[in-house]
Amino acid sequence: INGAEAPTVQLNDGHKMPVVALGTGRGTAPGSESVEEVRRAVFDAISVGYRHIDTAAIYNDEAQVGAGVADAVAKGLVKREDLFITTKLWNDKHAKEAVVPALRESLRKLNLDYVDLYLIHFPTATKPDGSPDSVDYLDTWRGMEEVRQLGLARSIGVSNFNSTQLQRVYDSSQVKPAVNQFEVNPTMTQEPLVKLCKKLNVAVMAYSPFGFLVSRKNADAPPPKADDPELVKMAAKYGKTTSQIVLRYLIERGLTPIPKSTNKERIAQNIDLFDFKLTEDEVATISKFNKNVRVIHPAGMKDYPNYPFVTEEPAV
Ligand code: NDP
Repeated sequence: INGAEAPTVQLNDGHKMPVVALGTGRGTAPGSESVEEVRRAVFDAISVGYRHIDTAAIYNDEAQVGAGVADAVAKGLVKREDLFITTKLWNDKHAKEAVVPALRESLRKLNLDYVDLYLIHFPTATKPDGSPDSVDYLDTWRGMEEVRQLGLARSIGVSNFNSTQLQRVYDSSQVKPAVNQFEVNPTMTQEPLVKLCKKLNVAVMAYSPFGFLVSRKNADAPPPKADDPELVKMAAKYGKTTSQIVLRYLIERGLTPIPKSTNKERIAQNIDLFDFKLTEDEVATISKFNKNVRVIHPAGMKDYPNYPFVTEEPAV
């Protein structure tokens, strides 16, 4: 292993989660790489020190993630138990009795006996054709508790849950969500939701960590871009790239970023974050870019029951 290995954070159920995860969802990537790239990306990531891989049923790449993991284990780079694999339940499998079969199907594709973390991908339920469904995510959560009891997932959590939804699951469950995964980056800093997660001891995984730093379809995206003067200044000070500054910013805030890359050099760069620290002032400077503007907008579901994205989260 010739790279940096990320430290871990202790989840509220006692398990440990590595604080940088390789993203494998390729939906927002310009040019949308072939899914076959994922196998090599996962192998490359493990070989430079990643121990956490993020996938989802809807990414259609669980088989490639599993193959990349199998390659790394077969080459003796790691053992299965050294890795932390996260996958997610899609919206059309929210009925309580659909959860166990959905995870079994993911495990079959991943060629694994268990995942480390299983997340409800979205609080909004749909029918298989994508039209709205009325399943309450509390029922879905009962199914999640069952997969944990069966040992199919070591930890369970949610994704894209807003404050009200997270609090509701928290208050009405035996097993508390260990993680909430949602968008956090310099233009979507999410202070209120992060604060609630800290209060409840729910770890945060930050998706789309680069925000609009990297090229995105949104033409009127707010700053910062990769050549932003304030970020360039910090990058020069620490001998890092502006991408690394933004990932380190999320780590300073106690979050687990999920940078997606299928490029070997950038994969290595995105975990080479543990030989420098930002000051509190630098973290505050980056937080000032906040505009509550999202990269990810599933706008087609805006009128569905339990659509989570409100412009501003209530203060905790
Ligand atoms: P990211 O912020 O990770 O951006 C990915 C883009 O940045 C790609 O185009 C990539 O290109 C480029 N990139 C990666 N590293 C660098 C670098 N060092 N310098 C310059 N450019 C770079 O966004 P995503 O939206 O992909 O989110 C990341 C992951 O989060 C997803 O893959 C998925 O696993 C998860 N996610 C979860 C969601 C949820 O609903 N729970 C929603 C969205 C994402 P290249 O590959 O060529 O390097």
